[in-house]
Amino acid sequence: MKEPEFVTYTVEQLCEGFYYNDLEEKGVYGLNGKLIIQPEYQRNYIYAEKNGKAEYEVIDSVIKSYPLGLLYFNRRADGMMEVLDGQQRITALGRYLTEKFSYRLDGRERKINSLPEDKKELVLKTKLRAYICEGTESEVKAWFRIINKAGFELTEQEKRNAEYSGPFVTQARAYLSNSKDSNVQKWSAFVKGDVKRQEILEVALDWVSKGKIDEYMSSHRYDGNIDELRSYFDSVISWVDSIFDEPYPEMRGLPWGELYERFHNNPYDHKDVSEKVKELINDDYVQDRRGVFEYVLGGCKEKKLLNVRLFDKPTQRRVYNRQTDEAKAKGISNCPLCAIGHDANHSKIWDLKDMDADHVTAWSKGGSTTEDNCQMLCKTHNRAKGNR
Ligand SMILES: [Zn+2]
Repeated sequence: MKEPEFVTYTVEQLCEGFYYNDLEEKGVYGLNGKLIIQPEYQRNYIYAEKNGKAEYEVIDSVIKSYPLGLLYFNRRADGMMEVLDGQQRITALGRYLTEKFSYRLDGRERKINSLPEDKKELVLKTKLRAYICEGTESEVKAWFRIINKAGFELTEQEKRNAEYSGPFVTQARAYLSNSKDSNVQKWSAFVKGDVKRQEILEVALDWVSKGKIDEYMSSHRYDGNIDELRSYFDSVISWVDSIFDEPYPEMRGLPWGELYERFHNNPYDHKDVSEKVKELINDDYVQDRRGVFEYVLGGCKEKKLLNVRLFDKPTQRRVYNRQTDEAKAKGISNCPLCAIGHDANHSKIWDLKDMDADHVTAWSKGGSTTEDNCQMLCKTHNRAKGNR
C-alpha cells in the first residue's frame, strides 16, 4: 500500500457536479465526476433523517468556522476516488449547495443563494482536508474497518507530517520520533506525549515556532536540515535540566519553551532554586504544584500560580463570631485595622459577607493556614494588606 497523502479541497471543489439521487437517497458524484461519494459498501445517507438536524449542523459548523474533521478517500487504479469516510458531510454540503434545504440565519430561512455574499463566500471557500490512500481492494477494506472503529484518529502531528511531507519531516522524525533513541527517556521527564505518535516532535515544533507549527512546517518543508529545530529543543531541555536538580513528575508537559524565553537570561543559584522547589512541592497548602517551577523562576512573586489553600468557611465563621463578640463588648469595630483608626469606621460592625480572611503571619513568611493564624478584615483593609 502506498504512503497516504493529504489534499485540501474547498467546499466548492468537493461539490462541483454534485447531484443527489432522491430515489436512492444518496449523493452520487463530487469533484466534477471524479469522486464517488457513496461506494457500494457505504451506508445510505442518514443526515437528512431526524428532521435534517444533522445536515443542518454541518452547515452551522461551516458558518461558525468549526472544524469539520478529516475526510478519507481511496484512489482507485482507474484514477477515480471513493469516499471512505466523510460521505455524510459531503452529501450535506452538496445538498445545501444544490438548494435541497435551508439554513436559518438572522431570523430567516436561507438557501445558499439567499445568504449574504460574505457568508456564501465563506461556505464555498471553506477548506476540508482529505487523507487519500491507494491500495488493493482488500487493503482498502481493512483500512476502512480501522477508520470506522470508534476512537481511531490520527494525532494532529501525524496529520501535519503527512501534509508537509518532505526532507524536513523525514529528518525531524529521525531525531524526535525514534522511540529507541536514548534521549527519549531524558526528554520524557519534561515533555509529555507519545513519541511514536509524533507528540514529542509536536512539542519541539511548538517551542521553536512559538505556537505556529503549521506556518513553521510549511516554510521549512523543503529544508535540507533541522538545525534550528534541533538546537532550540536541545537548548530548552538542557536549560531546564541544569536549573532544577530533580525531575519532579509535575514538570512533565509544562510549557518549557515559553518559560525558557522568559527566564533563560536570568542567573539562578542552583542550590537556592532546588531548596525552594523542594519546600513548595512538599507544602500541603500549595494546591497547584505544577505552578511551583514558574513561581520560583519568577522570583517567588506570583502567588496565584500556586493556588495556596485558603481558610475554609467554618473557620472563617468561628473567627468572625469571636472577633465580633469581643469588638461589641469593647465598642470598637470587628475589623482590627478599622478599630485602631480614627475615622467613622472605628466602631463599625461589618457583616461576615463584607469581610475576608487574612493570614496574620503571611503564608509566604511561613504562616500556616490554620485557625490561630486567621483574622477577619474588612475588604478594604484586606486588599490593602495583600498589596503590600
Ligand atoms: Zn477595616
